[in-house]
Amino acid sequence: MNDTVSTAALDEWMRTFARLVAENKEALTDLDAAIGDGDHGENMDRGMRAAVQALDDTRPSTASALFNKVGMTLISTVGGASGPLFGTLFLRIGAALGDTSEVSLSQLATALHAGLDGIVARGKAEAGDKTIYDALAPAVQALETAATDGAHTADALRAALAAAENGRDATTPMLARKGRASYLGERSVGHQDPGATSIALLIAAATPAPA
Ligand code: ADP
Ligand code: MG
Repeated sequence: MNDTVSTAALDEWMRTFARLVAENKEALTDLDAAIGDGDHGENMDRGMRAAVQALDDTRPSTASALFNKVGMTLISTVGGASGPLFGTLFLRIGAALGDTSEVSLSQLATALHAGLDGIVARGKAEAGDKTIYDALAPAVQALETAATDGAHTADALRAALAAAENGRDATTPMLARKGRASYLGERSVGHQDPGATSIALLIAAATPAPA
């Protein structure tokens, strides 16, 4: 396996995520209006817009500096649950990657796992709680399996995207047990989780089109 990911590609990942969030802002807000307070699209868009601005201003040259900037910006600009949770995800990814400018697939998988652990440490979500965990955990698992199998990064990311989208779709029948949606109890059933939807966009932003 010799296909590594450069800092420039990681920077592009964050910019593409910001673009996908902007394009899906209304859809994310509609999902949150059904089982939350209708601000998820607004929250993610405000945060990622500010993150791109911060990247433009500082041009980080290492993976740790890049994700540190994105994570800190999300935490400082987004008041909702998603700001600290996505912020923690990126801070942990940055800390795990360190001062490297070329990232291997196994490093990427390990870093995303560290990010997932950070989200759990912060929000205590478990599988089936109808949160961002339910899309991110299967994506991390798929990346780790692909890395162990010696897959190419592009194929690994396609597998991770399929896993994230399946995980996102699987949140629809779940009863929310964390966050604002949990206040609805049974009425949360039958709605796709907004945060899990944003995670699928995050993985989509990293994934090349089918070969
Ligand atoms: P808020 O709920 O504060 O309005 P957002 O609407 O931006 O924040 O984000 C809601 C999303 O946050 C939910 O769809 C869910 O995926 C995620 N979320 C909420 N609480 C948790 C938690 N404890 N762990 C993981 N994800 C969570
Ligand atoms: Mg909300």
